[in-house]
Amino acid sequence: MGHQPRCQPSVVWASRSIGLGHLTLEEIMPAFADCKLAKPTALVSGDSAKANQVAQQYGIKPQNVYSYQTYDNLRNNPDVDVIYIVLPNSMHLEYTVRGAKAGKHILCEKPMATSVADAQKMIDACKQADRKLMIAYRSQYEPHHRAMIQMVRSKELGTIKVIQADNGQNQGGDLNQWRLERALAGGGSLPDVGIYCLNAARYLTGEEPIAISAQTFTTPNDPRFKEVEESVTFQLRFPSGVLAICSTSYGFHEARRYRIFGSDGWAQLDPGFAYHGLRMMMSRKSPTNSMAENITEVRLPEKNQFALEIDHMADCVMQNKQPHTPGEEGLQDQKLMALIYQAAETDKTITLPPVTGLDTTRGPAPRMLK
Ligand code: NAD
Repeated sequence: MGHQPRCQPSVVWASRSIGLGHLTLEEIMPAFADCKLAKPTALVSGDSAKANQVAQQYGIKPQNVYSYQTYDNLRNNPDVDVIYIVLPNSMHLEYTVRGAKAGKHILCEKPMATSVADAQKMIDACKQADRKLMIAYRSQYEPHHRAMIQMVRSKELGTIKVIQADNGQNQGGDLNQWRLERALAGGGSLPDVGIYCLNAARYLTGEEPIAISAQTFTTPNDPRFKEVEESVTFQLRFPSGVLAICSTSYGFHEARRYRIFGSDGWAQLDPGFAYHGLRMMMSRKSPTNSMAENITEVRLPEKNQFALEIDHMADCVMQNKQPHTPGEEGLQDQKLMALIYQAAETDKTITLPPVTGLDTTRGPAPRMLK
């Protein structure tokens, strides 16, 4: 423990007979070891035996293990300041509303919800309870992405013309997984992984799109895609003239990257949306030979993205600041995803009124903690 008081998020994960959530067990719980301001103090699970085992592993008091039914009793637990919601997408609404009513701040996984209306209800519930709401857009706290944002904003690559982003995987596993059920997931590859491309195009430029076009394709008779789409491509036009070309799929092999094309150079993260091992490459015109370019790899120390994101939430609670990625940031992606589906269905470009100013859905930039 440092000399600073530590904020104490609990982790809401769920567990039924199929086991504990992947993200919670494999990434989030281990990430607390790298957190400077937060520690896990309680768990919520449908499987008490497993939850007790994990509680013991992470030094969480046995009396701080809750079920979905006893979740509201968190209101009486001063060990818990923040609830981190890592449930299937459609369940984010209920557990955000109940958590805020229990007097706790909420850190909620992406996508925020499965509809614009639900996302708005989450914002309203947290406002009404005077609690903070942050959406867990881990990339926006990660140093490679922050360096790319800085590069775009400082015009290091000249004028940005095009951003190309791809995120997807050949989705395997159980055919009964919630990600393939529309009611629980809200859609297929777009809300699950395509959202990273959409969010990146927005946080790199700081702008909001004024035009959207899109296409979807789902392989007929693929048993995975009875309810949700397989692939989506979408294009965005921003007020400054930047064009974003994005693709996402549950059908292609791993791609988690983006490249920014500017008038004086390009920069890319490949992989960019992965949990670990991000790689940044840059290219600039050679000052001595106009036909040549200098390609360099920029190496930054690897940081745990989940730890950075969790610490940011703790920092906001302790300093009473607005999170960098509040509910409004998640709501905007939710609105734009609905329009991407609409553009694909109607095969028409959708235009939007320009939004003045940059980063209009974000709070102050996260500060680097020592
Ligand atoms: P998962 O399937 O591994 O875990 C979901 C948990 O919810 C399981 O423990 C399951 O038992 C429980 N659950 C409760 N009710 C359920 C129901 N009706 N149907 C199915 N499961 C139910 O999922 P996950 O990969 O941990 O994803 C959880 C959330 O985290 C999602 O919102 C997802 O988009 C998000 N996520 C974010 C990242 C990231 O990088 N930020 C990565 C993966 C997942």
